[in-house]
Parts: sequence; structure tokens; C-alpha cells
Amino acid sequence: MVYFNLLHNFARFLLNLNQLKIFTTKKNLVEYLGQLRSNGNSVGFVPTLGALHQGHLSLLARAQQLSDTTVCSIFVNPTQFNDPKDLEKYPRPIASDIEKLEQAGCDVLFNPEVIEMYDGNEQWHLDIGELENLLEGKFRPGHYQGVTQVVFKLFDIVKPDLAFFGQKDYQQVLVIQRMVDLLKLPVKLVMCPILRETDGLAMSSRNIHLTVDDRKHSLVLSKTLNWLKENFDRDKIPELTLQCESMIKAEPGVQFEYFEVADGSNLHKANESTKQFVALVAAKVGNTRLIDNVIIS
Ligand code: AMP
Repeated sequence: MVYFNLLHNFARFLLNLNQLKIFTTKKNLVEYLGQLRSNGNSVGFVPTLGALHQGHLSLLARAQQLSDTTVCSIFVNPTQFNDPKDLEKYPRPIASDIEKLEQAGCDVLFNPEVIEMYDGNEQWHLDIGELENLLEGKFRPGHYQGVTQVVFKLFDIVKPDLAFFGQKDYQQVLVIQRMVDLLKLPVKLVMCPILRETDGLAMSSRNIHLTVDDRKHSLVLSKTLNWLKENFDRDKIPELTLQCESMIKAEPGVQFEYFEVADGSNLHKANESTKQFVALVAAKVGNTRLIDNVIIS
């Protein structure tokens, strides 16, 4: 058994010469990355809440293509959770996350405790304009203030050249781009496509909470988005939107929140002058809130 373990570890070492370096403190990470940067390495950053799946790993793969060093953060950020129960039950399988990052060849993991990131009573407010109250903003009050607060801190620590975010959280990408523009942060954002299960469900850390029945009902979201994409030229947007809404509302076990065909640049309701359309949906399936979207043109 001892020999087997030794062999196993040696094989892992050979397969993964770039060992994952794990940091839990800002100071040590800043020092380490400062050194790399002074040697001319570019840094690609993938911030996450953990419970990693192929969607997260696809962001990492893109980061690896475009950067010399890849940094992934796993931090379940309390300030972006508007529902304390959601925060409490958010999955935190750190050991298997580390294994996934090692296997994927990630260079650095930043995995701080809450106390390392927040100092008690700090205030944060960023003017993100209408994105604050539209769609996700409306259903999750304060969510984007928490997201910008933590992403600003993470950018300040990691100082990435490129930061990778998923189209899965389309509104989040617009919000963070707005923060980057407002504060003139020296980072370029890269939006990566949505990874899906073979039946179409968008991958999400929250999917593990779906019961077998929820899992079947959840497919109505991606099916409706696909239907819209295929039928986009067949009717006017308000009529199509109504049809999509009723498809979702007709599905048992699904609590509809919103379905919107929007302008991809600002998430205003699409109109005649809209050039890039994106359809976005949110619903609760059983007790699990899911979001999804599709870029139509
Ligand atoms: P999260 O851990 O949910 O905050 O997600 C971390 C990053 O992974 C965000 O930029 C998400 O948009 C992205 N992401 C989540 N799910 C997917 C997916 N199915 N495909 C691609 N990216 C995703």
C-alpha cells in the first residue's frame, strides 16, 4: 500500500510538474505574484465561489491559453448573498476542488477565510446605474454591490492582466465591465461561453440541490431559450416573450421569475434599434434558483 501511494504521488508529480500553489493570505499571494510579474509573466484570473464543475474549468482552460500564470480564487463571498439560507447551504467541497485544479494544471489557488477579506464594518457602494435594479438586480437586491466589492478586492490583490467570467452570469459581466470602466482598472475581461450538460441544463454549482424531479423540470429553461433562438424571426419580440413565459409557467415545480429579450449591451428591453439580442431567464426549480441565457445575434 505504501509503495502504491508513493507510486501514485510520483505519477501525479510527473503528470503535473506545475504544482498548484495554495494561498490563504493576501500578503503571501501578493508577494508570490509580484515576483512572477517582475519576471515578465502575465496573470490570468478566474474568480469563483468553488464547488467547481466543467464550466469553471473551461474558464481556467481559456485563461491557460491566454496567460503565463493562472490564478483561481475560491471564496464564498458573504456580501453577495441576499438570502442567508442560500449562503449557508452553498456547497464547499474544497478537497475535491483542489484536486480538480491540480488535474487541470492551475498554477495558483487563492482560498481565503472571510476574515482575511473583510474587516468588520466596511462600507461599499458603486454606482452601477440601471444594472443595479434590472433582472438579477431586482430579484437579488444588493447582490451586485457584494459582487463588485469582492471582485474589486480580488483584482487589487491578484492584479490580473486578464480576468475570465462566464456568459452564464451575463449581467455580472456587464456589471464588472462597468466597474472596470468607472474605476479605470488595468484589467481586460474575457467572457467565456456557457457549458451545458448533454441535455442542455447550464452547469451550475447549485444543480446538486436539484431533486430527480427538479432536474427534469429544470430543462424547460434551456429548451425555452433554444426555442426562442430558433423562432426569433417568426414573430415580434413581445409576443415571443409571452410565449416563452407561458412555456416556463406551464412546467410543474417551476416558479417563474423573469424572461426578457434584452439589448446585450445594457440589458434594456430590446427595441427596434437593438443590435445584439440576449434572452435571459430566471426561475426557482423546487428550492433551487437557476438562471440561464442565450445570445441570439
Ligand atoms: P461561480 O462560482 O458560480 O461564481 O462562477 C464562477 C465563474 O464561472 C463565473 O464567471 C461564472 O459565470 C462561471 N460559470 C458558472 N457556470 C458556468 C458554466 N456553466 N459555463 C461557463 N462558465 C460558468
